[in-house]
Parts: sequence; C-alpha cells; structure tokens
Amino acid sequence: MRTTGAKDAVSVLFIEDDEVIGRHVEAGLRSHGYAVNWTRTGGSGLAEAARLPTDVVLLDLGLPDMDGIDVARQLRDEHSNVLILILTARSEEIDVIVGLDAGADDYLVKPFSLTVLLARLRAHLRRRPPAPAGPGEPIRIGDLTVDITARRCLLGDREVELRPKEFELLAILVRHPGEAVSRESLMAEVWDENWFGPTKTLDVTMSSLRRRLQAAASAYPPVALPALTTLRGHGYRLDPPGPLDGN
Ligand code: CA
Repeated sequence: MRTTGAKDAVSVLFIEDDEVIGRHVEAGLRSHGYAVNWTRTGGSGLAEAARLPTDVVLLDLGLPDMDGIDVARQLRDEHSNVLILILTARSEEIDVIVGLDAGADDYLVKPFSLTVLLARLRAHLRRRPPAPAGPGEPIRIGDLTVDITARRCLLGDREVELRPKEFELLAILVRHPGEAVSRESLMAEVWDENWFGPTKTLDVTMSSLRRRLQAAASAYPPVALPALTTLRGHGYRLDPPGPLDGN
C-alpha cells in the first residue's frame, strides 16, 4: 500500500541477509527519510509484508531460506501495489528476466551505489499512479500534494497559496490523473451546474493556477510537478511528472 500523506515516510521492507550491505543500505535510506524495516530471510520478509503496510520491497535474490524469485512471486501475488526492486549479485540476465517475470518492477546488480538506489527509488515512486486515496486522505502526485479535506496544496513540504476556484479546479484534476476532464464538467463542478455561458473564466483560472504552481516550483527546484495539459476543444488533463523529471 502506498502512503499518500505528505508527512508519511515511504516504507521500505528490505530483505537482505548480508550484514554489511544491510547496514549500509538501511542507514543510507533512513538518512534520506525512508522508513526501513530490515529483515534477513525470505520467510520473515513475507511475514513482515503481511504485517505492515509497505510501499517498496528491496529484495535480495540470494537468501538463506528461500529462493528470492519465489519471495518476489509471493509478494506480487499478495500485494499487487507494492514496488519490488530485486538486488542480485548474479549479473546473469536470466535471474533478472525471471525476477521481472515473477513480478519485480526493477533490479539492481550488486555492488550498487546508494546514489543509484535512491535515484531509482525516486523515479519509480514518481511514476507510480497515486494509490486510491481514502476519503479525506491527501492526494500526492509527484511532489504535489493536495489535501482536499484541509484545503491545502503543498509542493514538497511548502504550502502553495491558491484562490478558492484555483484550488477547486486542481482538486478535480488530481482526482483523475492522466484522464481528460471536459470543460463542461469542470464548469459544472467548480462554478455552477447550470452554467451555459462563455467559459473564459475557466481558462483564466487555469492560467493563474499554472502560474502559481510554476512560481512555487521555480522557488523550490528540483521538483516533480504534474503538468496541466490543455486539450483543445475538450478540456484539461493533469499529467503526472515523468521519470526523473525535474531531477
Ligand atoms: Ca544474499
């Protein structure tokens, strides 16, 4: 399960029996704000994944009790949303292919640097579709967080001040990332369900929303900001930032 709250750390389940690599990676991830749960066997990893909400699994393939591929397969079966990165000392292509077939999202060949691991994690976490936020939970897309209940918009950890209509417009678009939303439905939801007149006010509000987000982003680079794309003759679409955008 992917956490969506701005203050919630991404939770990483780290399954690795090598003490040296384990300590190094655990400390590195912690110092970069990840919540790390390190376990040394496949069996205990599966148990931990069942016990605690987990965003990411870093999975060593060479484990003492189980084949890492089987662990990956079981994790994927039981936790469809979790991001699985396999770590392999065996650079043979076959391990990687079998691992990806088993449901892993990506792999790193040992020895890997912490910098590469962190960059890979950031890229994957940005690319992932936002978890369906529960009612009242903030929606996070790239570095943008929209908390509809609290009426707050954050870029990274910084507040972005929006006018009421700008906020309402953004709140609709973030609920449908990657989907076209028609002008009519935006007008109806944000302004007035009986609106039949000109819709210039929508474009003006969209422009000022874009300006405010861009201004906030340029004050806080590098930032992964979703794009507000104009669909001529139809409406708008919020596009999640691509991998490594703004990175
Ligand atoms: Ca190992």
